[in-house]
Amino acid sequence: MSIEHDAHASGRPAITEGGPSLPQERRLVTAIPGPRSQEMFARKRSAVPPGIGTTLPVFVTHAGGGVVVDADGNSLIDFGSGIAVTTVGNAAPRVVERVRRQVGDFTHTCFMVTPYESYVEVCEKLNALTPGDHEKRSFLVNSGAEAVENAVKVARHATGRQAVVVFDHGYHGRTLLTMTLTAKNMPYKQGFGPYAPEVYRMPMAYPFRWPGGAENCAAEALAQVTDAIDKQIGAHNVAAIVIEPIQGEGGFIEPARGFLPGLLEYARANGIVFVADEVQTGFARTGHLFACEDEGLVPDIICTAKGIAGGLPLAAVTGRAELLDAVHVGGLGGTYGGNPLACEAALAVLETIEADGLVERARRIGDLMLPRLRALAERFDVVGDVRGRGAMTAIELVVPGSAEPDAAVTGEVARRCHAEGLLVLTAGTYGNVLRFLPPLSISDALVDEGLSILEKAISSV
Ligand SMILES: *Cc1c(COP(=O)(O)O)cnc(C)c1O
Repeated sequence: MSIEHDAHASGRPAITEGGPSLPQERRLVTAIPGPRSQEMFARKRSAVPPGIGTTLPVFVTHAGGGVVVDADGNSLIDFGSGIAVTTVGNAAPRVVERVRRQVGDFTHTCFMVTPYESYVEVCEKLNALTPGDHEKRSFLVNSGAEAVENAVKVARHATGRQAVVVFDHGYHGRTLLTMTLTAKNMPYKQGFGPYAPEVYRMPMAYPFRWPGGAENCAAEALAQVTDAIDKQIGAHNVAAIVIEPIQGEGGFIEPARGFLPGLLEYARANGIVFVADEVQTGFARTGHLFACEDEGLVPDIICTAKGIAGGLPLAAVTGRAELLDAVHVGGLGGTYGGNPLACEAALAVLETIEADGLVERARRIGDLMLPRLRALAERFDVVGDVRGRGAMTAIELVVPGSAEPDAAVTGEVARRCHAEGLLVLTAGTYGNVLRFLPPLSISDALVDEGLSILEKAISSV
């Protein structure tokens, strides 16, 4: 591994390897984005439709540990993990090794045509590791949306009911059904209707914005939701309640404690399948292997994706054996679901989480970040709320002295962080949340440096 700092002579920095062997440092050698990235971005503009947006237009050549390196030789601190995907790090050594071995053996057979062991092993591991010690089954698909959509198919088939209950600020994907399940119109739904039928949206127990105050949020929200289901839909018509244990795109909203257990109890009492969408929260991200563990929830079905395979496309549906076994032969599946490279990567991810103590590591990152974020909230009135768990944290920005969302300031803080070499993402129904999702392979020093950049960006706006 070597970097030539003289990018001008060589045309581009000669980095020969990504992964954790990259120098773990922030290093800016051009403005962000640099000339090479700008050139490629111009090509992107004429080859790719604008519907595919860009958070930060630097074109990546290498990544690993806690940094992303761009085509101009800039090394940026990564507080995004490709949206909570490279939780074990980019080009993580065990992932690279297993995928390299597999790619030379075979790349695809279609598991539904001729199966292979790694798929079964991933499913065995998911059955063992997800909450609850009941008999479980799993099957594999390609994306988070596909997992959620399949969970609804299974729940409908198993219950013989049609209605699906979802929540304000929820995000579940971009396919027809999952964009219908998603709360936010712009950009996810605008112009893409008509939407799928039999989807009902309920209030979310959002402590920071609950009209009756954070302390009454769980009980009041639960009463409203169960009453609306009873009166407006009829509990006996509901196949599934689909909810994120911490909402992701909606703004890292942690439901008021007690809300999720109450909802689960209501689902049980009424024969409703409780589906936990852990696509963003799963695989050590929140300081538990799965976020449901925080309140001891045992969902009927759990959907996973993002962090599952270190960046290779994979997702899973895991649930009670009697639910998943109810579907007829051939009723589930897909050509690519559980691709052998992605399965090897998932096995490597699970090994890495265990061997490197990444659940603990996520907690430690939370312990580093949350006190500093709370200190920001003390210092700057624009920071209205600090929340999250482990390596999934966020701040919500507001007009000082109110709870009014300030999306403009949020965007400006993100831009200033980007210009200083810190990759951060925004989120939230009102676009006023800065979310932090560092890979668990990041060093304490880079977390610290990233937070200092954030602090500077906030104090400068
Ligand atoms: C990202 C996400 C999805 C959709 O996953 P894709 O892989 O983008 O289809 C679904 N649910 C949640 C909670 C997510 O964060």
